[in-house]
Amino acid sequence: MRPLFILLLGIHLLYGIENYRAINEAVMYGNRPCRAIRSYDTNHTRHYLLVDETTLVTRIVAAPLSAREHNITTTYQTLLERYTSPPYKLQDYGLTAIGSGRIYITTDLCPSSKRGFEREFYQKLIDHYPNPVDVTLFICSRWIDRHPEEFAQLKQWQSEKKLNIVWGNHTHSHPFHPSRPLDENFLLSRGVDIEREILELEKKLIGYGVTPSVFFRFPGLVQDEKAVLTLRRLGLIPVGTNAWLAKGEKIHKGSIILLHGNRNEHEGIKKADLLFRQPGYDIGSLLDIARPGEEKATDGSKRVVPGGR
Ligand SMILES: [Zn+2]
Repeated sequence: MRPLFILLLGIHLLYGIENYRAINEAVMYGNRPCRAIRSYDTNHTRHYLLVDETTLVTRIVAAPLSAREHNITTTYQTLLERYTSPPYKLQDYGLTAIGSGRIYITTDLCPSSKRGFEREFYQKLIDHYPNPVDVTLFICSRWIDRHPEEFAQLKQWQSEKKLNIVWGNHTHSHPFHPSRPLDENFLLSRGVDIEREILELEKKLIGYGVTPSVFFRFPGLVQDEKAVLTLRRLGLIPVGTNAWLAKGEKIHKGSIILLHGNRNEHEGIKKADLLFRQPGYDIGSLLDIARPGEEKATDGSKRVVPGGR
């Protein structure tokens, strides 16, 4: 197939989706404990968005599903509770690092009036690191709608196994008011329906043949208790950062690096050039949080928990 044709395929809706809604059902799929977190109909067939409760990998499956009889505490439930628990902070909340020797690249695709995207940055990742390169995109509908060809290019890199993309939710419309204080801004703006913001973006991704992950980034990294508990109810894990490069934060082992892929913060992309110096970093996937790691207790003892800390 010619590249242009492949690109055009990526910008047309593949599926019409009806009755999209949040559910919370413990099921078995392929002998693995899973959680059905969404259901919808397409072509009169019921589908589910499933989370593998051991690996956090998501997949779309058609009905029917078998219910799980014995409820067990799973890695997914442990992590969901850990990263949606108090203290609730207006900023710097959620998963900000993973207890590993790796680093984690996340690029936000917030709405932007700028044409194009940080194509060279993604291309450099592909050229400098073993393929597919793990990257998490926190994407919103308004960026997709204005950048169909760029969205198709990202999908194409994934289908060519150049990038291994975790598709993170950055809301449908990404509300933002330049002059308002943080506690009345972003998702905390008056009149914002957070559940709708989350589900509409997922619906769009699925309509384009993309499977949403369990990861969510609050626009502006701003939230309150109510917003976080909505996220927990919808089964999503909030992801912050401890290495926002444009703000001068440094990369450490386990860092979740925040960059913007939408050309709105090129300063950060320039600082990310250190990723391309020798020797390179070990880049991981956010799904590493499901792997066992060591957690240090206050008395200095260690125990094994998902993701470590
Ligand atoms: Zn954003």
